[in-house]
Amino acid sequence: MQIHILPEDVVNQIAAGEVVERPAHLIKELIENSIDAGSRQITVEVSESGRSVVVKDNGKGIPPEHLSIALDRHTTSKISQIDDLWKLNSFGFRGEALASISSVSHLVLTSKQKDRGKSYFIESEFGKKSAILEKPIDNGTEVKISALFENIPARLKFLKSGQSEYAQIKTLIKAVALAHPTVEFKLIIEGKVIFYFVKAANLLGRSKQVFELDSLYYSELKNDQFHAQVVFADPHQVNKTSKNIFIFAQNRWINDKSLQAAVMEAFRNTLMHGEYPYCAVFLQCDPQLIDINIHPTKSQVKFVNPSDVFRVVYHTLRKEIEKAPWVPQKDFDLSISNSSASPLEGNSDRNEVIKNDEFVQQGLEMQREVSNSTSASNYSNAPSSSLNQVLFKQKKNYLGESHNQWETNNSQTSVSAGPVKDFWSRLQVLAQAHLTYIITQDSDGLVLVDQHAAHERVVFETLMRQFKTRNIEVQSFLMPLVIDLDPEKAEKIVENKQVFADLGIDIESMGPSSLAINSAPVIIKDSALTSAVMLLADKLEQNSFSFSLDNVIGDIFASMACHSAIRAGQSLSHGEMEALLKSMDQFPLSSFCPHGRPVSIKISQYQLEKDFGRLL
Ligand code: ADP
Ligand code: MG
Repeated sequence: MQIHILPEDVVNQIAAGEVVERPAHLIKELIENSIDAGSRQITVEVSESGRSVVVKDNGKGIPPEHLSIALDRHTTSKISQIDDLWKLNSFGFRGEALASISSVSHLVLTSKQKDRGKSYFIESEFGKKSAILEKPIDNGTEVKISALFENIPARLKFLKSGQSEYAQIKTLIKAVALAHPTVEFKLIIEGKVIFYFVKAANLLGRSKQVFELDSLYYSELKNDQFHAQVVFADPHQVNKTSKNIFIFAQNRWINDKSLQAAVMEAFRNTLMHGEYPYCAVFLQCDPQLIDINIHPTKSQVKFVNPSDVFRVVYHTLRKEIEKAPWVPQKDFDLSISNSSASPLEGNSDRNEVIKNDEFVQQGLEMQREVSNSTSASNYSNAPSSSLNQVLFKQKKNYLGESHNQWETNNSQTSVSAGPVKDFWSRLQVLAQAHLTYIITQDSDGLVLVDQHAAHERVVFETLMRQFKTRNIEVQSFLMPLVIDLDPEKAEKIVENKQVFADLGIDIESMGPSSLAINSAPVIIKDSALTSAVMLLADKLEQNSFSFSLDNVIGDIFASMACHSAIRAGQSLSHGEMEALLKSMDQFPLSSFCPHGRPVSIKISQYQLEKDFGRLL
């Protein structure tokens, strides 16, 4: 075959393979056209597993004389020279979507401009255009697609089941809706209204509609290069997949693994393995720092400095998560906690005053005294998430505040005033249940605290704080602690002696397969030490080329904390329970253990009264 130029219809079909691989991509292109046309209302109707689509908008419309050319390839009203790409303020710019879509479907494009009395349509049968004819519609544009991919059987085969295409379409509508809070969106699937997002006042309002959650938090960060805004739900609200993490750059929904990792990193130690948060990240930057033209569906972008972007997103989110704004702020009625007698009065020492910083020491002593017969990983009694929600649904007032801040937009940082400083110590300790849960009350309900999870968090945060301030309190052993292990591991550890020293662990070789530990952080137990050393050695082996202590420190300390914390099954005196609660107030994220399990659950007074039939 001689070299020849491909016919226009073949070129369009090839392009269609990239631009509109699946129905959701096509819908994205059509919605973006509607948004570029200034529409305030957009309705998407889908059926036949996405092979029939109608997108209607109330935008500026297309003049009849342009209807035909709009379906041609590389025809656009949005840019005229390559430099325009760097100062783009529209979604479209390649002039490819309508040409591609019309080459692989039956397409009817109907449009009415406001100042014209009449509306017109053009039809395209797999690229073959009809004449322009009149048909009455309201102001705006309607694109009707049917028989998608009918002329490309190979592509038809790649379409997934209806449910899977519909799921992708729903996620797409959520994403576009998040990026355009003031535009009204309606999604109808097979005749049923699935989403109806009415015009929202701002991002927070729209996020509430999209995530279907009332309590969301906001944080932002601005520097000379970036403006990052995040909206997120408290970490008790979780998903099994990352489908509710949405990332936007220059208001485009992007698929960016690195920024998704930044979000997960910011939620570190608040989520359990396999849990994902609700979070939307909006990033704006100098157009020179980002290339949006690297992917056919524009779903990926390239940042000039990806690690800067990672840091910005991480910090914006993390600084707010660390304040744990979901912890109830309400003041308690102190009369309850001060006056009523405790059922445990008899076996407790109420006069015992334990300072916060003494608690950890005291915890260690307690551990030495009590045998570790019950496993700390006795997590089968983990609280049910529905109970959990009762606790964290209390803080309605956060929303109001968040809202205002959002609107006034006057803050460099965040909205919420932060949790009550002495939230935990103000709980009145009533009893210990099953040698595992501390039963407490506040003015409007019962709060059950998991003693292991609570102490684990205290130990973890204490270690973190000491590490960050380079102030790890170390104790030297009279007799070194000897660990036997395989020679390769021993060698790896000795090679990285300094890494261990940074953690306050002084290690030396005692032969090819044994090590001596001469000193270690005061706060951790001997048994925790061995497993932490092994864990760190594993991490060193896995990441020998790119090892960074900062990246693994959380995991190492979490392991140390887990093995050093008070166990489930351990009896605690009243004073010990109070001291534990008091020590939790030192750390803002006390409502989660380092593995992401909740530390407490609340049963509200309302719930109790309802369950006992006191309320109708
Ligand atoms: P692009 O969006 O890259 O310009 P498209 O093929 O998606 O390319 O659209 C071609 C042109 O058709 C657009 O530049 C725009 O002028 C016009 N157009 C498409 N959809 C609409 C719409 N919903 N409302 C108004 N004009 C539209
Ligand atoms: Mg377009």
